[in-house]
Amino acid sequence: MKKITRQVKYEDDLELGFGAEISEKLGCENLDRCIQCGTCSGVCPMSVYMDLTPRRMINMTRAGLKDDLLDSYSIWLCSSCYACTVQCPREIKITDIIYALKQKAIQEGRHPKRFPIPVLATEFHRMVRNHGRINEGLLAAKMFAKTDPRKLISNAKLGLALMKRGRFVLGHENIKGREELRKILDAVDGEQEATR
Ligand code: SF4
Ligand code: SF4
Repeated sequence: MKKITRQVKYEDDLELGFGAEISEKLGCENLDRCIQCGTCSGVCPMSVYMDLTPRRMINMTRAGLKDDLLDSYSIWLCSSCYACTVQCPREIKITDIIYALKQKAIQEGRHPKRFPIPVLATEFHRMVRNHGRINEGLLAAKMFAKTDPRKLISNAKLGLALMKRGRFVLGHENIKGREELRKILDAVDGEQEATR
């Protein structure tokens, strides 16, 4: 039997205050100024692939449709090209708002499972925190291992070829002053925590 999905949204589906919470984050201040003109969706190169267009994401954020936003693929399809932000007549930083939604989804562990972008972002952050810089080869290997191990195997030959040419090393290089960097990152995380 065909599964019927409810499309209508009721007040109980809303998280009241979600829009206000997002608009307190750096760069998201103008959320309430949206006039729903649709310019952002019109210029977005990825909107044809999105289940929710940028215009809808902005309106749903204001309305408090948190679950639909954080469970959607659209926030992960944004390529951060900033075309929407540049063209918005109300000077809304749509890309920053989408970043805030992505961050929220990662913090709440709500990103689509085995979807590479949030895994890549989390591992990137961890490497920078621990070593001060990333190792691109290891970063790609970790991403494949956690999302699609078959790709790790199919890319092994390429990895070996890059190692032979000295373009890929297995060990981590550490920068000087890692402690200072950690303090800076802690301060940034602390500021974000304060606006959560
Ligand atoms: S371009 Fe700006 S004002 Fe127009 S719908 Fe998008 S966010 Fe709203
Ligand atoms: S930044 Fe993201 S949402 Fe904005 S136009 Fe580019 S891909 Fe679309």
